[in-house]
Amino acid sequence: MSANIEAAKAALSHLDLETREAGIKAASRDFFWYSPVLKDRLDHVMADFVVRPTSEAEVIEVLKVCFAHDVPVTTRGAGTGNYGQAMPLAGGCVLHLRNMDKVREITPGRVVAEPGCLLKNVDAATREHSGQELRMFSSTWETATIGGFVAGGSGGVGSVTWGSLRDLGNIIRLRVVTMEAEPRILEFRGEELARVSHAYGTNGIITEIEMPLAPAYDWVDIFVSTEDFGAAVALAEDVANEDGILVKLASVYEAPIAHEFFQRVKPFVSENSNLVGLMIAPHSMEGFLTFLARRPEVTLIYRSDDHDWPRRPGKVFEYGWNHTTLRALKVDPSITYLQVRYGFPDHVALIEKIRASFPEGEILQHLEAMRMGGKVAFGGLTLVRFTTEERLDEIVRLHEEAGAMIFNPHRYTLEEGGRQMTDATQLNFKREADPKGLLNPGKMISWDDPEFGYDAMYAYPGLKETA
Ligand code: FAD
Repeated sequence: MSANIEAAKAALSHLDLETREAGIKAASRDFFWYSPVLKDRLDHVMADFVVRPTSEAEVIEVLKVCFAHDVPVTTRGAGTGNYGQAMPLAGGCVLHLRNMDKVREITPGRVVAEPGCLLKNVDAATREHSGQELRMFSSTWETATIGGFVAGGSGGVGSVTWGSLRDLGNIIRLRVVTMEAEPRILEFRGEELARVSHAYGTNGIITEIEMPLAPAYDWVDIFVSTEDFGAAVALAEDVANEDGILVKLASVYEAPIAHEFFQRVKPFVSENSNLVGLMIAPHSMEGFLTFLARRPEVTLIYRSDDHDWPRRPGKVFEYGWNHTTLRALKVDPSITYLQVRYGFPDHVALIEKIRASFPEGEILQHLEAMRMGGKVAFGGLTLVRFTTEERLDEIVRLHEEAGAMIFNPHRYTLEEGGRQMTDATQLNFKREADPKGLLNPGKMISWDDPEFGYDAMYAYPGLKETA
């Protein structure tokens, strides 16, 4: 099967088509470079052209043409994913959805939006319409799309209360277009949502999304500090478990993350300060301050509604989730990270065990309190000082041996970035919806190599060589 790029471009020339090299290159990259391993493997990756449909009908047209000419199609929201998810490994077409950015309908508890709508614009529309907001969003709220979040993300700000995107009820409905000679439009709810959510666009293009909403608040951003790491972890977990206090974020940063990497926080902390970042609903502030007064070992250093900091630190969630890694990388380019799950009920003991098992400074704990199966536990976006790929693999192995689950951000496939096993639901739907295997090739190992053993990094044989 060889792609006829020129024929596809000619057939799509009446659409918003990008053929300038600089434009194509920019639309072929995401935040893969957080990983030195992916940077090494994927830096040269580039599509042959980019097309920006404005409607579902145009998406169908692009898919039809690319199917006819055997052209691979990789969908792009805003390209803020970290796993190389939106990178066209086999070249071909990048289907950029930024022009499909409308909020279509808002009702009590629900919003219907096009996939290219930025998360912040969904929130702006629902807030203005009826004082509602998304239950959860990635910390890239300013720049990322709702479609990219559903297809490539996992959870984020709000997960402390609402769990992850994969939890039942956190996505209501997805409308999906298939990659066939005659693309079909399908609507998924309930069990069917798992076919395409967090599937990296490998088996369908999401053209409409219905998400649940929660009441919107003017969240109060908080920083508290303590010299005792255990006290910081306990505070984040305990506040998340306070039944009457409404929390949207509880992030823990081991010392000296705040002092080394958070420039605007630095004047208010020492090298020994462990920091907790929180978002608390305004009507929960009195309860929160009472909760805090019972913990003399922690100090409130910032609250966004009442402070005398000469320079505002900005949104507290832009210190959390994968923004922590970004801030650290800007100061120290040798930093990379791991994505870890510390599950209930052994999460705190596991975090301590892992902390104790590495040389000082090699890893730094960054934790996000989140609800998992109804219980508060922690996701970790651990900062790692990178030395070699071998040592990075060893650090992953040591976490796994200790009992933590790793979602390896140094791999570009769904399986390796997930639970290292075939997702039969996603694979079966790909067989049905993308029979030629043209959607985001190289990202689903079980499609390419069902016998793969996971003893080494998967190397997609179709990865286009450096030009
Ligand atoms: P893209 O990167 O453009 O796409 C993501 C994946 O979805 C790709 O595989 C793409 O092919 C596919 N895709 C996009 N749109 C569609 C569609 N309509 N149909 C089918 N497939 C599609 N992630 C989190 O989950 N939580 C966080 O808190 C978080 N914080 C981050 C912080 C930083 C600083 C960075 C760089 C990344 C972070 N991420 C986080 C990862 C990423 O930003 C989020 O997953 C984000 O929501 C992706 O949105 P996007 O529009 O950039 O998607």
